[in-house]
Amino acid sequence: MCATTPQAQAGASGKPAGHETPVRKIESSKLMRRIMGEYFSELFEAARTGSPKLAWCTSVGPAEILVACGFRVYFPENHGAMLGVTRTATGLIPHANAIGYSPEICSYLTSDIGSHLKGESPMAKMPDYEFPKPDVLVYNTNQCREVQDWLAYYQREFDVPLLGINTPQGLGEVTDVHIEAVAKQMEELVAPLTGITGEKFDYDRFAEVVGLSKTLTDRWKAVLQCGAARPSPLNFFDGTIHMGPAVVMRGDPRAIEYYDALLNELNECIAQHVGSLPEERFRLYWDGMPIWGKLRDHSTLLASLKACVVASTYCNSWIFDAFDAEDPFRSLARAYTELFIVRSDAWKEGYMQRMIDLFGIDGLIYHDAKTCPSNSNNRYGLPDRLERRTGVPYIVIPGDLNDLRCFSEEQARTNIEAFIEQLAEA
Ligand code: SF4
Repeated sequence: MCATTPQAQAGASGKPAGHETPVRKIESSKLMRRIMGEYFSELFEAARTGSPKLAWCTSVGPAEILVACGFRVYFPENHGAMLGVTRTATGLIPHANAIGYSPEICSYLTSDIGSHLKGESPMAKMPDYEFPKPDVLVYNTNQCREVQDWLAYYQREFDVPLLGINTPQGLGEVTDVHIEAVAKQMEELVAPLTGITGEKFDYDRFAEVVGLSKTLTDRWKAVLQCGAARPSPLNFFDGTIHMGPAVVMRGDPRAIEYYDALLNELNECIAQHVGSLPEERFRLYWDGMPIWGKLRDHSTLLASLKACVVASTYCNSWIFDAFDAEDPFRSLARAYTELFIVRSDAWKEGYMQRMIDLFGIDGLIYHDAKTCPSNSNNRYGLPDRLERRTGVPYIVIPGDLNDLRCFSEEQARTNIEAFIEQLAEA
């Protein structure tokens, strides 16, 4: 399973890299593509037949409650990432701008609404595609307030219920008061959701789904922790693609099987000292969103500089340690409130310091995403404070998750190359 021959990384777009990019290809990708294909076919089948009902959910929303209620769950942010990876987002954003959605706000939101207005989506190229029209829309503002406005657009379009959880922001310690407030809102989702499905809420099924999600997230965490090995058998750019099942298949045993296979492969690489790059000289941490349309370019550039991004805030966002089948509502509330994005800068500094130590980080790249302030952690002095605390240097790359008009290829390349030179001289 652990291929030692460096291969040109196809990258998320599936196109070969412009020149030889000696990034190890992950063999388990075939299995991931198969189960993600099954996920989408089941979604389209539900859309075609009207059964089971379809729920749209924000990416760190209460998916387990929806799965337990019997919904098929679709994640608009996953679609936003597809629009970014396929570089179709930039052309779609102006359609949302034209109906009053500012170019300054979340480019997942504007590209997704633009895609809907234009009737164009990369999903339409998948077998048996059928637009997954929602029966209900469910958000959690734990990640940002934008998700509420995003789903409110579809509430008006489709005249379906919009349900939500409002989570406090900027938390240091997460207290029982926070947990009770969020857990109560989660419990209150059950009545309207079962009103839509017409089924009684099965608490045992809910506990089972939370248990499956816990196993899944533990596996995903173990995958990411493989990055602590030297050399690291995977990198951030792999992680952004391989996290798909951890995001959209929570509560699904097929995702657990997939991560078991991936873990076997990565552990085999660790045992054989096979890294993601043929030579790993520098170990980096990526903070913030990926620049989806540049994944392959960034993977290629950093590989050529012998720099491996071994850990990231973004991929860790789908680690939910608190899930507990014995206490499903409260543990769900805790897991979705303890997330990095919900926390204060002081808490984030402590967390990132632990990551720097655990993964042996030589330098940090902060992506300042123009349209995502919630996931850009460079704006209130955090990088300087963390550098003073740890002595580990950083750079900030201005850009955006989906709107490539906010990203300068040339400037980013120059900054990254200069940063790696600085690390080499240290
Ligand atoms: S966290 Fe950022 S990218 Fe994600 S939905 Fe909110 S604003 Fe958009």
